[in-house]
Amino acid sequence: MNELLPIEMEQPVCLVCGADSRKPFLTVADRFDLSQTFQLVQCQQCGLVYLCPRPTEKSIAHYYQDPGYQPHQLKTLSLSGKIYEAVRVINNRYKRRLIEKYIGEGRILDYGCGTGEFLLEMKKSGWETYGFEPAPRAAQIASNYGLDLIEKLDNLTYTVSVITLWHVLEHVHRARHLLKQFHDILDPNGLLCLALPNRTCLDAKIFKQNWVAYDAPRHLYHFSPADIEKLLSDCGFTIASMKSLPFDPWFNAFLSAGLETGRNRMRLFTFGLLKSVIVASMVSLLSICDTHVSSSIIYFARKENTR
Ligand SMILES: [Zn+2]
Repeated sequence: MNELLPIEMEQPVCLVCGADSRKPFLTVADRFDLSQTFQLVQCQQCGLVYLCPRPTEKSIAHYYQDPGYQPHQLKTLSLSGKIYEAVRVINNRYKRRLIEKYIGEGRILDYGCGTGEFLLEMKKSGWETYGFEPAPRAAQIASNYGLDLIEKLDNLTYTVSVITLWHVLEHVHRARHLLKQFHDILDPNGLLCLALPNRTCLDAKIFKQNWVAYDAPRHLYHFSPADIEKLLSDCGFTIASMKSLPFDPWFNAFLSAGLETGRNRMRLFTFGLLKSVIVASMVSLLSICDTHVSSSIIYFARKENTR
């Protein structure tokens, strides 16, 4: 993107209920440029928390350019890179097993597939795989693995049995339109899997404006389970089950502690490390009994065929 182009901002209405009335919720800094702050607001009608004002769809690419943005990273030889990679492998296997409890085989579309590792896991298990990825650097890596990438949803010439979005919907400007497109693409009784940060989790309450999953201005919405239930129902889906992602409390707590300690290494490796281990352990334990407190939730939703 041309750095000389001005960043355009817009004032969206609430994604869940369409209301245009909001109140301030939190001011959060861009974790890659702490001098830039953004406003989160809360809908006065339904309670959804969202970014407002936000960069337009044209301008948002500017905020994905930091080489430290993990989902688009190449595999690295650093210790943190190796840990991230090992966790990604275990997570992908976990996600595949959860999906295969519902549907054992078929066609799958991973929307926002990043560098493609999840699709590779599915392909090895016999699935016919398709990916969509708007970030050119990540898409190139996925293509190099030999995965089929589509440039737009209209290019799919047949329906699919599963659509997955792993921490993607919160980045999408026209999210409601996209969910309706998914309804058209899915087979009857097809499965939609959405993994999203959970605004009502314990680590968000503890770290407040330093909670890493606010990730302004890349995350446009901060959903509670009730928000997602309403949005999916409006778009023709029914939630069948909810699961937590076991590594996310640890990822969130360590990165949030880093933000809270101002990336001061001494404070991070003493106070920050201890706090993050305590918080992540608490969230992990509580999530076993109640998914609603977990850092991230995977929603498994079935297509309703009457829409
Ligand atoms: Zn609302």
